[in-house]
Amino acid sequence: MGTLFTLGYDEWDIEEIEAARIECDAGIMDIRWRQFSPRREFQLEELLKRWEGNYLEVPQLGNTAISGDPRICDLEKGMKILGQFLPTNNVILLCRCASLEQCHRGMIAEEARQRFGCEVIHLSPPKTVTPPTFQ
Ligand SMILES: [Zn+2]
Repeated sequence: MGTLFTLGYDEWDIEEIEAARIECDAGIMDIRWRQFSPRREFQLEELLKRWEGNYLEVPQLGNTAISGDPRICDLEKGMKILGQFLPTNNVILLCRCASLEQCHRGMIAEEARQRFGCEVIHLSPPKTVTPPTFQ
């Protein structure tokens, strides 16, 4: 059984994610509802180009709620897709949200842990950004 990692890319550089992906020996599963971002490198075409063969967008596991409690697009279909990869692959669930508590990825990971018995590891950004001080 593979390990399930989660990552919210807001405080990551794309190169840092690439390094984590290699270290985790994992494929990326993008669970955003929409694969759009003002950061060009996180738009669907760019991600497909960069991680061809190691990247899959699964909007079925996306959160369709604008605010409040997460509403998963199609949990059953999404879990079926995840279940095809997890037995033989490590997977990184990718979302944007920096905060794990405010992101639906925690809930998806917990659901997967219960269904598949996989280990879950939540990844944190490699560096902490300290705001500049002005004197
Ligand atoms: Zn999120």
